[in-house]
Amino acid sequence: MSRDSAEHTCDVQGCTAQAERSVSGKKVEMTGLALRSEGIRQVHLCKAHYRELKKETKGIIPDYMG
Ligand SMILES: [Zn+2]
Repeated sequence: MSRDSAEHTCDVQGCTAQAERSVSGKKVEMTGLALRSEGIRQVHLCKAHYRELKKETKGIIPDYMG
């Protein structure tokens, strides 16, 4: 079983949706997203918040950087 896929909740503060993707904490730091705790290395995001992050980082971080 992968530790990184299912059974994770979105790490955004106040969000209880199931996480679909994980991204580096550094990347999330570059956006305005507030996480439930600080210093998370691998941040789990639900579909909606992942989309938001992609939008926020568009033009800043290329897709291939994850
Ligand atoms: Zn979320």
